Amino acid sequence: VPASRIRNFSIIAHIDHGKSTLADRLLQVTGTVADREMKEQFLDTLDLERERGITIKLQAARMNYTAKDGQEYVLNLIDTPGHVDFSYEVSRSLAACEGALLVVDASQGVEAQTMANVYLALENDLEIIPVLNKIDLPGAEPDRVAEEIEQVIGLDCSEAILASAKEGIGVNEILEAIVAQVPPPADTTEEPLRALIFDSYYDPYRGVIVYFRVMDGNLKKGDRVKFMASGQEYDIDEIGVLSPVQIQVDQLHAGEVGYLAAAIKTVEHARVGDTITLANHPATKPLPGYVEAKPMVFCGMFPIDADQFEDLREALEKFKLNDAALNYEPETSSAMGFGFRCGFLGLLHMEIVQERLEREYNLNLIITAPSVVYQVTTNKDEVLLIDNPSELPPPMLREKIEEPYVRLDMMTPQEHIGALMELCETRRGDFKDMKYITQDRASLIYEIPLAEIVTDFFNQMKSRTKGYASMEYHIIGYRPNDLVKLDILVNEEPVDSLACIVHRDKAYQMGRGLVSKLKQLIPRQQFKIPVQAAIGSKVLSRENIPALRKNVLSKCYGGDISRKKKLLEKQKEGKKRMKAIGTVEVPQEAFMAILKLN
Ligand code: GDP
Ligand code: MG
Repeated sequence: VPASRIRNFSIIAHIDHGKSTLADRLLQVTGTVADREMKEQFLDTLDLERERGITIKLQAARMNYTAKDGQEYVLNLIDTPGHVDFSYEVSRSLAACEGALLVVDASQGVEAQTMANVYLALENDLEIIPVLNKIDLPGAEPDRVAEEIEQVIGLDCSEAILASAKEGIGVNEILEAIVAQVPPPADTTEEPLRALIFDSYYDPYRGVIVYFRVMDGNLKKGDRVKFMASGQEYDIDEIGVLSPVQIQVDQLHAGEVGYLAAAIKTVEHARVGDTITLANHPATKPLPGYVEAKPMVFCGMFPIDADQFEDLREALEKFKLNDAALNYEPETSSAMGFGFRCGFLGLLHMEIVQERLEREYNLNLIITAPSVVYQVTTNKDEVLLIDNPSELPPPMLREKIEEPYVRLDMMTPQEHIGALMELCETRRGDFKDMKYITQDRASLIYEIPLAEIVTDFFNQMKSRTKGYASMEYHIIGYRPNDLVKLDILVNEEPVDSLACIVHRDKAYQMGRGLVSKLKQLIPRQQFKIPVQAAIGSKVLSRENIPALRKNVLSKCYGGDISRKKKLLEKQKEGKKRMKAIGTVEVPQEAFMAILKLN
């Protein structure tokens, strides 16, 4: 296909505004996927994604479309993940396109994620086509929402397409608009090969499968390629297109989108954002914008049963083949024994990995509260990166602690502005700006420590605004603060896995909160257990978990065996997620107690 008849585009939207439904409809209308094969939301493949209704990993689909002008076009849809943790992947898949459909729910309006995606699309110089979706809903107000888009984004909406992805309304107009408005890719087939990787995954039989867009030159089966950032070279076994199932072809040229397999050992050799070139005829410069994704959030993972340590190591090794952003190192905790310190792009990434480890590998884990990465300058002028609160050097050895800050963008109906401001104040946020985007909706901007965001901020925001507010954030850098390590002692012993880093002004309140939460969460045992919060040797708060008086079974008055069994089973259930710390059994929830303080 000549470049002039190719259109590469993606769909950007706030979560739930209908991106996946529209993608399905496009595949159907173009006959790419036969109606009877159409599973709902074809593009979201991972079960977990479907359950959570979010798109985590990118996929692509090639569609053939005969336009009104009688010509046949190839339309490549490149899907983007729908979560802030993966915004780097979003930016790379947008970089592989010339245009984007901006889908906005006509019964809702512009949300925080709409804006974040639009900025990414504008940075990549994409042609943006506004689509007002869900016009079948009685509450749809396409005129109001069109005006909102014009006001907030400055995008001309006079030609916005009115659509219902659900009912199939507007789908043909969308296809025509893609052909007419999205520029064709530049025809640079004569130049040395440069292809942009926008996704990759590990296949146990064929090695890593790489999804890419050819920007310049062309690529054939059998070519020896070089990944410019990782420096790795491989011979291509297979190339093809995604329709959306993989179909082999002999070659792909500038403007086309496809996949390759080359018995690549791990996704680290072919990371998202890297440039593929030919080993014996390389391009002089890689494509711009490559960044190695850095983990921002860390936690400890410890098998409850020490025998599962090797299983956990193996599982993490396998995960790493498929997830270049995952980071892990063995960790030994005096309280928890042997485990791993794991790093993630963000909270969602962390939850996904944890859930899959438990589901797919049957591992029973205790997971410690998430921590960000602190930058500590020692009194010898060394800079240390601390991702584990228990490793914070003592005050006399450090000069300065800095923590990551984010710019937080929220959109909310005006009646919740007060509640959100209050939340941000308690979370050490610095107010930056507030704008009314319409008469009754406002955008609020704060600069706030990432540590405050990873401790349950999202749920707090949702519950304080009855679900109506939305948020987005991105890291803006490190800032010094008066931070201290808060130690938690259980039965007079400091528990390293419960230590956290907090602002000095909040330490007393956090210490009290944590101690009383732990008192609720740690079950009574045969003896009294003191729980304390301390900074250094200074105890801020102390409570006792009183000793158990009676055995559970004594309630059963002897006779009833089945009831006795049930009680014992219940007790066992409760035990499943317990870790013995010294002589005290501590449940999983205790390690997350810090997330439950309000
Ligand atoms: P995504 O998060 O942007 O991928 O959104 P989805 O495509 O998963 O859609 C979110 C919800 O909105 C689903 O329950 C869809 O069935 C529903 N939905 C999507 N498009 C429409 C539409 O045009 N009309 C109506 N009434 N519902 C829609
Ligand atoms: Mg979706």
